[in-house]
Amino acid sequence: MTNPIDGVSRIEVPTPFPVGSMNCYLIEGSPLTLIDTGPKTAESLATIKQALLKLSYDMSDIEQILITHGHLDHIGLAAQFVRERERIHGSPTEVWIHNRDAIALINYEEHAELYMESFVRLIETSGVPKNDAQKLDPKRLIDYYLSIRESVPTARSFKDKDCFKTGIGEITAVWVPGHSSGSVCYVCDEQQVIFSGDHILGDISSNPSISFDSSKGISMLTYLESLNYISSREDYIALPGHRNPIFDIKSRIEALRTEYDDKFQKAADSLTSNPQTAYELSRTIYGDYDTNSLVLALAESHDILRILENRNQAKVINQNGVIHVVKH
Ligand SMILES: [Zn+2]
Repeated sequence: MTNPIDGVSRIEVPTPFPVGSMNCYLIEGSPLTLIDTGPKTAESLATIKQALLKLSYDMSDIEQILITHGHLDHIGLAAQFVRERERIHGSPTEVWIHNRDAIALINYEEHAELYMESFVRLIETSGVPKNDAQKLDPKRLIDYYLSIRESVPTARSFKDKDCFKTGIGEITAVWVPGHSSGSVCYVCDEQQVIFSGDHILGDISSNPSISFDSSKGISMLTYLESLNYISSREDYIALPGHRNPIFDIKSRIEALRTEYDDKFQKAADSLTSNPQTAYELSRTIYGDYDTNSLVLALAESHDILRILENRNQAKVINQNGVIHVVKH
């Protein structure tokens, strides 16, 4: 546990995902506030309890939970906090999430169904070789996801620019869709700090295509636009959802933009008049990745080929339900 700024403790909580640990932030004062909760695993729960105990708190003391986005490594334990406070103090913890991600917290079972449909559609339309496709078991994956999170039917939703009182000053929720459609950064102007969730991370990608829901537009483009919404606060410290604080927001955003431009260029350079599938394009851009990264690589490739199509650099063709791309 560290104190990135006065009144704020960073609690590093383990997750079962390749990304490693995630960060919860405890904001002391009234109301006692937690930003994100970690997944619902015994290890995460023990870590959070121990960290709170060191500060002389227990789970029931948390009065307000502000969620940066509806992914399970950030929301999984919320229900447990709500129950603990209700049991000890007779009223539940207030849990807040942006309205675009609210379903992931309020009714995760329904959300999981929709996610699974998009997941299966992604695999089917990408031209994934049988060998690779067989290694994926969407049903097992969804069952696992359901086991490490829990719905919070009493959670409340907010919209862009809504404000919250905390012990370090007023916090404004700035809507930054991309990594998820309801991602927010919680901005405290008084302390010049941004709780950036997974919108910007210090040394890893934010995976803007991870929701792979093409009905909501090209999420990678939405993400790149959303980077503008915090770029004016270049003197602030960003406290991200994973890894270390970011002290130079402007350079980080510039580096991210360059990274994406390089991917677009690599993809555009690979196009010929010979149709390649989204799967083949993913191998061109991301090389020899393993099955664990397959879904993410495909989702990003679908976004990239649609971005190239928008720029008139590529033509997308549907051949028997499989997406192919050629040079325009
Ligand atoms: Zn996330």
